[in-house]
Amino acid sequence: MNEPEITQQPVFCKRCQAEVRASDNYCHACGKSLKPGHGFLFSHAGIILMGLVLGPFALPFVWISKVISPVAKIIYTLVFLLVGFYLVYSLVHIFTLMQQSMQLLIGNLNDLENGLSSAQSLGMF
Ligand SMILES: [Zn+2]
Repeated sequence: MNEPEITQQPVFCKRCQAEVRASDNYCHACGKSLKPGHGFLFSHAGIILMGLVLGPFALPFVWISKVISPVAKIIYTLVFLLVGFYLVYSLVHIFTLMQQSMQLLIGNLNDLENGLSSAQSLGMF
């Protein structure tokens, strides 16, 4: 009696070459993830968490992920880009404010210096 051959092609770990089952998520020998794009970092929770920490730098995980839907990928991409632009905008804004206050401070110092020298020239010291 012939048993139907339903076993799949042997799968080998890319890191250590150990034979693993096609259904395995991780290599039993070395622990390497056998299904890139799966796992916590590629789930919704993982991506949101990384977005909070890395901002736009979490985008590669969004696009490598095989867990979330294409619509979700687009939404995450837009959100991360918006957050990224907002961060850049805030930094530029803070920098401009600092520059303005520095100029104000330098202007005040110059006024003080001018005041002192005019007081000196009037023979007040
Ligand atoms: Zn392995």
